[in-house]
Amino acid sequence: MAEEWVEQMQNQVNTLEKLEKYINVSDDEREAIEALDTRWGISPYFASLMDKDDPDCPIRKQVIPSMKEQVNKYGMENYLVWKENRATEEVRPDCIARQYTDRIAFTVVEICAIYCRHCFRKELVVDQDLQLRFDLDEGLAWIAEHTEIRDVLITGGDPLLLSDDKLEYLITKLREMPHIEMIRIGSRLPIVLPHRITEGLKKAIGGYHKVPVWLNTQCNHPKEITEKTAKAVYELLSCGINVGNQAVLLKGINDDVDTFRELHLKLLRTRIRPYYVFYCEPAPGIDHFRTTVEKGAELIRDAIRGHTTGLAQPMYVLATKIGKIPLMPDYYIIDKNEKEYTLRNYKGETTKIPNIPE
Ligand SMILES: *Cc1c(COP(=O)(O)O)cnc(C)c1O
Ligand code: SF4
Repeated sequence: MAEEWVEQMQNQVNTLEKLEKYINVSDDEREAIEALDTRWGISPYFASLMDKDDPDCPIRKQVIPSMKEQVNKYGMENYLVWKENRATEEVRPDCIARQYTDRIAFTVVEICAIYCRHCFRKELVVDQDLQLRFDLDEGLAWIAEHTEIRDVLITGGDPLLLSDDKLEYLITKLREMPHIEMIRIGSRLPIVLPHRITEGLKKAIGGYHKVPVWLNTQCNHPKEITEKTAKAVYELLSCGINVGNQAVLLKGINDDVDTFRELHLKLLRTRIRPYYVFYCEPAPGIDHFRTTVEKGAELIRDAIRGHTTGLAQPMYVLATKIGKIPLMPDYYIIDKNEKEYTLRNYKGETTKIPNIPE
């Protein structure tokens, strides 16, 4: 018999008929599903977390196509080619995206357990206009030759959809390269298909080794986290895999103070350390999810910093083709002179510290 996660993938909710078993499909949702030529699908587990009657459900909005995806006032055409520096002089395999000297993103697969409507890799993953060749051995050979790379970020699609054998092969090959110091995996599966965290997977990628594995998942709303996710995260941690979160700031989903704070506190209660919150990138067809640029920094200022446990604070970043640009809430130094700095805290109170000359 197939493993439970494989069955979940085989039964992905990707037709109107299947979707109707989970929710009362709205007219708008029906129209988009019928009209748009787009890849969509939801693991049965994640589909069961949707609100049956409310089309504004934060999970429904992330996974069910919308006619708004046809609007593209601010999105850039050929976004990924630009963003991932694919049209540059350095010759690299399709699976390698490079913005930094010492680390790269290694795309190993283009399928997912859910197809996020806000995905910045939509051209590749969801709309499939961009065809790339993902060859594990080609990528591994490139990394082996580039000894300046010390950190490999395995991404997709969702890399944990590879079989245990393929993952073990990939991780083992990377760990054998003397210049590789750490491996990162970007996967939504601990949230959208926690069944994937099996004993077999733990054996394939976990265990004590001098090259550690860090897994960053994506969770955007507290409603996405269940007991099943909590157990899966514990399993990952128990075999030495560090777990973090990279959320995307999404208009109408997590851009209010209460949801933003609860998301980050619930992540900590689930043993997931918030790492990044991303500004919703200018990829095509996702205008309706985008907030102002400053919004993320404002939310950290108003919902998290000082208001609650410091570990709950992610870094808010704008992901660009020249790397990630952090944007901090700017309330810290309000005045500086030869003698002292005046500092302001989250409540607006001020204090002073001396200015020490160099
Ligand atoms: C995000 C990203 C990284 C990793 O960035 P960190 O800030 O180290 O997490 C590396 N390479 C590419 C191409 C990326 O997009
Ligand atoms: S899981 Fe990741 S790659 Fe897949 S659709 Fe969602 S955001 Fe895109």
